[in-house]
Amino acid sequence: MSESRMTGACLCGAVAYEFSGEPIMLYACHCADCQTATGSAFVLALRVPAGTIRPTRGQPKPYVRARADGRKRNILRCPECLTALWSEQLGPSDYATIYAGTLDSSPALQPEVHIWTDDAQPWIVLPQGVPRFPRNPPDMDALTRTLQSARKP
Ligand SMILES: [Zn+2]
Ligand SMILES: [Zn+2]
Repeated sequence: MSESRMTGACLCGAVAYEFSGEPIMLYACHCADCQTATGSAFVLALRVPAGTIRPTRGQPKPYVRARADGRKRNILRCPECLTALWSEQLGPSDYATIYAGTLDSSPALQPEVHIWTDDAQPWIVLPQGVPRFPRNPPDMDALTRTLQSARKP
């Protein structure tokens, strides 16, 4: 992925946003939290540099979720239809995560990595040749470098 500009919106359209920058990676998270938060089997998530997402219509409402390890995330939702649009780590962080199903271009998105496959629904068949991790990837920076070099022709 290279420098790009993407737009997205919630289900009812009250909140829209814009991302501009270089996406880091597109992954599917199969963790139990993501399944519950979406009512689905996994979240399609686009990791982007922090500070590259801005609302262009409406004002998303934050919901703070504390994880078992003590880290906290802000999940930004539409205050009307409650669609989850993106999330940010509370405190200093290099990343934000777009819930990629809300992107206007979402039909074209294919995950490069699958994480938290320990929690994946048993019927899900993961594609061959795509990196997978039972939980969080142990070294995110190394993974990012691997993906970036694989994208270069
Ligand atoms: Zn909405
Ligand atoms: Zn998850």
